[in-house]
Amino acid sequence: MILPGHLAAGYLTTYAVLHVAGFQFSGNENIAIYTIGTLLGDGPDFDIFLSFLKKKTLTPAVTDGHRGYITHTAIFWFLFGCVVFFCGDIFASDFVKALGLLVWLSPWSHLLCDSFVFGAKWFWPLSDKFFTFPFEWAKKDVPRISRWSGVIKNHFKSISGIAEILVTALALAVFIWG
Ligand SMILES: [Zn+2]
Repeated sequence: MILPGHLAAGYLTTYAVLHVAGFQFSGNENIAIYTIGTLLGDGPDFDIFLSFLKKKTLTPAVTDGHRGYITHTAIFWFLFGCVVFFCGDIFASDFVKALGLLVWLSPWSHLLCDSFVFGAKWFWPLSDKFFTFPFEWAKKDVPRISRWSGVIKNHFKSISGIAEILVTALALAVFIWG
């Protein structure tokens, strides 16, 4: 999945977390929490920026290695989320508590989406392995080519690209009617 799908998954995670946990926020707080939760859906890809700083190039082949950074591990977001959640607990702030849950779960929605095709380091530091779901159909036709324009074009012809469109459409539907 690329940016739109990850943001859409972040939005859906935010919607689910707020509804399941039963948080009630004012208008501005609601806008802030949805914006942050949606952006956190692509939080793990912050390492594309780190990869660029280190390697000074953004070609797909080099950028592909960005998933090796700590921001693509499950434990990083879990611990980060716990710290934020407990700060919310100490200061008795529902907003900060909700933020903690989203710092944990929105990036996990990203890792979940990545796990269909590329894999994520779910069990790091116990294992350095990239775990993917055993769905071979999801990995079919995934482009591994050297130009971004080609990557994007081929992406939307693959099953992963179709999933991306569906998740984005679902997020829009929830946004409008949810
Ligand atoms: Zn990713």
